[in-house]
Amino acid sequence: MKKAASRKLLAAWLREVGVDYVPVPLRPPRREETLDEIREELAGCGGCPLCRGRSTIVFGVGNPRARLMFVGEGPGAEEDRQGEPFVGAAGKRLDQWVARIGLSREDVYIANIVKCRPPGNRVPSPEEAKACLPYLLRQIRAIRPEIICTLGLTALNHLFGVDERITRARGRWRELDGIPVLPTYHPAFILRDPSREKEVFEDFEAVARRLSLPTPK
Ligand code: URA
Repeated sequence: MKKAASRKLLAAWLREVGVDYVPVPLRPPRREETLDEIREELAGCGGCPLCRGRSTIVFGVGNPRARLMFVGEGPGAEEDRQGEPFVGAAGKRLDQWVARIGLSREDVYIANIVKCRPPGNRVPSPEEAKACLPYLLRQIRAIRPEIICTLGLTALNHLFGVDERITRARGRWRELDGIPVLPTYHPAFILRDPSREKEVFEDFEAVARRLSLPTPK
């Protein structure tokens, strides 16, 4: 019997036995998952070979309601030791950039493409990035930042599934799931080539303008 026909029969029978109104159970409102729920699910992850070399999973840090989120590449040695992204020399430079637009590490959210340290700080492989990406996308959905800033080539290319040059892509807005994204350089790259830092300053000024934050003089 077809579904619609069986529903009609059931309704007729209910009317016959004196029931003419059956309340439809309301669906509970859709609830976004929390960062803690994602973090719990990730605990003990063996989704790619990086799990074998890690000391700890570097999940992400910052304000779960951040207006601005950064995405880097993957944990280095210091991050692997401390369990927090961007705590080494590159992290200090990132903190300075964030401070230039009047924010602190506690105001923003910082995560990486991969959550376990690639051995010898190599670039994560496409398979490793692919295995970890769903967690990052869920973090983005849980936070719903107003702006995402990708740091460096790996973050840009894996987040968007593209193969672009960072020198061409930086400073040009794009969108991910309705969220404006601005790619900029990775702070480790700037530590090696400080002459390009003025471009990062321009990018942070663009972010500040979009968030109506004071732009640095
Ligand atoms: N570089 C990154 O891309 N992420 C970190 O967490 C540290 C350095």
